[in-house]
Amino acid sequence: MVENASLELLSGARSDRRTELETFVLEAGEPRFRVEQVEAWVFDHDARSFAEMTNLPTTLRARLAERFSLTPLEVDTVARSRDGTIKHLWRLDDDERVESVLIPTRERLTLCLSSQAGCALGCRFCATGDFGFRRQLRSAEIVAQYRESRRVAREELGRPISNVVYMGMGEPLANLDAVLASLRGLHEGFGLGARRITVSTVGLVPGIMELARRPEPFELAVSLHAPLHELRLELMPIERRYPLPELFGALRAYQAHKNRRISLEYTLIDGVNDDRELAETLADLTHGLTCFINLIPFNPIPSRPEWRPTPKDRIAVFSEALEARGVPNAVRTPRGRDIAAACGQLRLSRNESSSSDR
Ligand code: SF4
Repeated sequence: MVENASLELLSGARSDRRTELETFVLEAGEPRFRVEQVEAWVFDHDARSFAEMTNLPTTLRARLAERFSLTPLEVDTVARSRDGTIKHLWRLDDDERVESVLIPTRERLTLCLSSQAGCALGCRFCATGDFGFRRQLRSAEIVAQYRESRRVAREELGRPISNVVYMGMGEPLANLDAVLASLRGLHEGFGLGARRITVSTVGLVPGIMELARRPEPFELAVSLHAPLHELRLELMPIERRYPLPELFGALRAYQAHKNRRISLEYTLIDGVNDDRELAETLADLTHGLTCFINLIPFNPIPSRPEWRPTPKDRIAVFSEALEARGVPNAVRTPRGRDIAAACGQLRLSRNESSSSDR
């Protein structure tokens, strides 16, 4: 556990912890430049322990470790896909586990990270929803997934992380304070451009409006999955709290503030939400909104054995129907299928194998 006395240096932006760090360093009788040295280790060199800070006196390193924490995450499981995707299951200080995924393409190296351990929202197509909510992640735990993954990216892939998406376990806007602090941590602390960071939500309206008020141009993605109330309600219980008209009202207000294109995510489940007419309804729903629709073939999960991904030819029909109505879209190739890379699946398969071990 993080001791009560420990302040997490990854919590919030670089400037948030500077005063404490400065006071501590000066009280320890050390010169002020030690603060910059510590910050360089934390934010530029991805240190996960004070022992790594070799240009600091040993006594100062030991004292820093008593007062501050670098929120090291332990690897519980790592899975590497044939397509280059690397998935980590991280063990937190109270033994909870969360996932993050590194997804390399030719142009980008995207990190998908988690904002909660488990999730309370129960979307029916999602493995994370199946094991319910465990707890909120602290902002430092969210940022630590980035720090740990950046080390892996450098050592194993020889390239930096170019983009971050909050699309792993949990609903980011249901952990709003910690997520906003982590956004500042990634942006101001680690220097990742705001346009390279995407917050993906199932549509929590107050959180969307809070993001709209942020000065930084973070990207927004919304998981839609159905353009009709009844159907969306079947797939996503959140539709009861924030039905489509309210959600789209918020998206229009967001766009009026931000003038940024919004991504809409649409998972295609065979015979469930992939009818051509639904594509037309979807196109009508997005009228007046500058958006891009990502069509994602459903990634099968054990709790829904009856659901299959929509076959390629029918995905093409859906995509063309959107195109015909002027709605830009692309079909996304699922990555890391051989390592259960969809949200929550590694933890789920890990739980299943440990219970079958017993
Ligand atoms: S899709 Fe997201 S919001 Fe829905 S249950 Fe899964 S983690 Fe939660």
